[in-house]
Amino acid sequence: MDDCIFCNIVKKEAHCDIVYEDQHSVAFTDINKQAPVHILVIPKKHIRSLAELKDEDLAIIGHILDVANKVAEQQGISKKGYRLVINCGIESGQSVWHLHIHVLGGRRMNWPPG
Ligand code: 5GP
Ligand code: ZN
Repeated sequence: MDDCIFCNIVKKEAHCDIVYEDQHSVAFTDINKQAPVHILVIPKKHIRSLAELKDEDLAIIGHILDVANKVAEQQGISKKGYRLVINCGIESGQSVWHLHIHVLGGRRMNWPPG
């Protein structure tokens, strides 16, 4: 998807602070951090949202969750705790239409979320 900012990050056509990368995923710092640690984990494959996941994408979801855990460990928030967020659809506040997991940590999280 040429007009997708996260696809451009995958293709290295947009600058960002990559903290992890493998064959199927990239993790990078959110441009507008909401916590001391705020990393986005994305599949390299363009999937518009969790709601548009296909059966053949299930392995990707398992993989990016595993990467989110690894990133939390790498960022030193694994023991104290962290929050994973997937915004899905307009009312959730999803603003980038390429599936991503927010990895948030380094401060006490509130509940319920806003
Ligand atoms: P959403 O609101 O879709 O769940 O999350 C999208 C996230 O992507 C937001 O937290 C926003 O700050 C982040 N974001 C949007 N554009 C860019 C960008 O070009 N680079 C980076 N690193 N993060 C971005
Ligand atoms: Zn994309």
